Amino acid sequence: MRPTALVYSAALSQHILRDTHPMRPMRLRLTAELIQAYGAIGPGRGQLAAPRPATDEEVLLFHTKEYLNAVKDFSKGERLHEADRYNFAEAGDNPIYPGMYEAAALSTGASIRAVELLMSDAVNVACNFSGGLHHAMPRHASGFCVFDDPVIAIKAMANRGLKVAYVDIDCHHGDGVQYGFYDTPQVLTISLHESGRYLFPGTGFVEELGAGRGRGYSVNVPLAPFTDDEVYLWAFREIVPPLITAFKPDVLVTQVGIDTHFNDPLTHLQLSVQGFAQVVGELGALSPGKWLMLGGGGYDMSAVMRGWTMAFGKCLDTDWPNQIPASIQEKYSIHSLKDSALPDLTQRQRSDARQAAEQTVADVKRTIFPFHGLAGLV
Ligand SMILES: [Zn+2]
Repeated sequence: MRPTALVYSAALSQHILRDTHPMRPMRLRLTAELIQAYGAIGPGRGQLAAPRPATDEEVLLFHTKEYLNAVKDFSKGERLHEADRYNFAEAGDNPIYPGMYEAAALSTGASIRAVELLMSDAVNVACNFSGGLHHAMPRHASGFCVFDDPVIAIKAMANRGLKVAYVDIDCHHGDGVQYGFYDTPQVLTISLHESGRYLFPGTGFVEELGAGRGRGYSVNVPLAPFTDDEVYLWAFREIVPPLITAFKPDVLVTQVGIDTHFNDPLTHLQLSVQGFAQVVGELGALSPGKWLMLGGGGYDMSAVMRGWTMAFGKCLDTDWPNQIPASIQEKYSIHSLKDSALPDLTQRQRSDARQAAEQTVADVKRTIFPFHGLAGLV
């Protein structure tokens, strides 16, 4: 078992963006309850570590001072007439709510705390499910994300001279993180996602491959709606292991959004929790020793609780029993960890998704692999 920390406290799960908003931070509390019900925290298992708020200096590793100050003021209910300049809107993706700055600083600080635990050699794996807010940009909020904790956490490590590989398996393109490292070969970013032709943020095509010295170090694997476990795993295995092996990172950072699930209300990929957990386990096997796991999207509560509990198990090299512990079964009416009924796709949906994945994989191999000394042609 690898020494592993879960960075979590209930304070991360208490804010409400808006009553009807799909991002519900209470999912973090439910996930932590299930993880603890399986006995994953304790002697000989994972350790629980408390988060701390990110400092201004840490937020400024990626964001502008002007934006940071605006977030602080909006959070107190001040200067609200300037909300749109920073992409906030009451009825939109990024509502302003009281305590917004404190909530964003704490989830960002949780990712930095995870980095501190890894860098001090206290653990080999550190996990912050409240992080992975990969859409935020230097000067504005985006896609439910206020501060971009993955960029900030990676910069904290890259500034020590470490090579970092970032793999983002959220259903949405990891556009903020791609932007943060677009022109450097020190950080390899790989995002597998539902194609921007169908889904927010509308980017993440294979041709977005980096700039200058960073050319070949931004990797995008856009997939079609109805991509299921089998097609996803095939595309993942064709692209991710060879690139990580060739890149030889010092640290692996994974963003494990679980909005790829077939029950997710916002997206159209069709993964099961067990397919998702298989991908996470294969990522863990690629880790060079230090592994930072961040959360991300995930809007079906049961899929989030179960998928992230299985993901935390992968950190501990453990597969939990399929039967959910009795206390949780009673409280939340969920009974098995894995999905028992899988999506019923038509032959046409399957073959279209397969064909699209084959095209994407061929394009990535042709355009990206030669930058890494890998054969570009299949
Ligand atoms: Zn997402």
